[in-house]
Amino acid sequence: MSNQEYRGLAPSADEQAREAWRVEHTEGGFICTHCGHFVPIDEQMGTRNRNHCNACLWSRHVDESKGDRAAACGGAMKPIGLTFKHEGVSKIGEIMLIHRCERCGKLSINRIARDDPENAIMQTYQDSLRLDKVSREQLLDQGIYLANAADVEAVQTQLYGKQ
Ligand SMILES: [Zn+2]
Ligand SMILES: [Zn+2]
Repeated sequence: MSNQEYRGLAPSADEQAREAWRVEHTEGGFICTHCGHFVPIDEQMGTRNRNHCNACLWSRHVDESKGDRAAACGGAMKPIGLTFKHEGVSKIGEIMLIHRCERCGKLSINRIARDDPENAIMQTYQDSLRLDKVSREQLLDQGIYLANAADVEAVQTQLYGKQ
């Protein structure tokens, strides 16, 4: 087989990344490609689809819609801020993480798992208060509410309970 033919048949890096993700999810966890932490997938996390690291909160772009593992991108997804789950007009719902793919820019909203560290979530919130204008406009365009300085009490209460 010539080199060229071989290259045609070899799985791309993206395909390998997706396969690795699939295998890891059937093996009780996965290694975070951002920080190297082993992320367990078990009943402790309190949500069916673990899609981000429970140390650094980074994720990977492997889903087009929840849990389908259909995305061709495979890029690293950075936690860029917090939003709230929609629960009617006046009620503030649970905190959700906003992830953005570093490769293609896709945004996704994800539930926080029970064992995600509060300090990392708080850090994401604090960093998001200085989020650049382009990112803010992207969120606005897609109708995603970015938790802002006025939401500090709601964020603190949900993370640490009533002070
Ligand atoms: Zn990590
Ligand atoms: Zn992507």
